[in-house]
Amino acid sequence: MSVCMETTSVPRWDEERTVADGGRTVTVLSFGDAATDHARRLVTSFEGRRVSWLRAPATWGDAAAEVLQRQLSAARVGWRLVLVGDEAAVLAARAVAVAAGALDDEILPEVLTTDTRTVYCAHCRHTHDATAAIGQTSTCPACSAELVVYHHVSRHHGAYLGYQLDAEES
Ligand SMILES: [Zn+2]
Repeated sequence: MSVCMETTSVPRWDEERTVADGGRTVTVLSFGDAATDHARRLVTSFEGRRVSWLRAPATWGDAAAEVLQRQLSAARVGWRLVLVGDEAAVLAARAVAVAAGALDDEILPEVLTTDTRTVYCAHCRHTHDATAAIGQTSTCPACSAELVVYHHVSRHHGAYLGYQLDAEES
């Protein structure tokens, strides 16, 4: 199997909490009502900096992508992006920010829940949302491959890698 893709290990969210230190301007992007209280506490904790708080629907989609793109195109040195919500939305937003040139150090992901995982099919390159845990399997809706949800997150796809079960055998 020759899958060539830039990957990082699964983010250790706790370690990334300190990343936002040093930012002069902060954009907090929260996903869904469930993230509101947490986002409000974060906004308060960034006292003394220029903070803007944007609320997006719980699930990642075009509306959130548009809002984020506007922030990214206005980004300056010293800007920090804080993402608060379900892991799937946070990872999707991070992938967009990374694609736009944001550095890992500039992004603070606050994952509150992991209801669904976005899984990237290494077989057909389709991404889908699954409730499978790492190490479990999920069937790709595009190519019907039985995917093992792998313990790696693609920064560019904002998704867990899914490798076809028994792909080595034929
Ligand atoms: Zn597939």
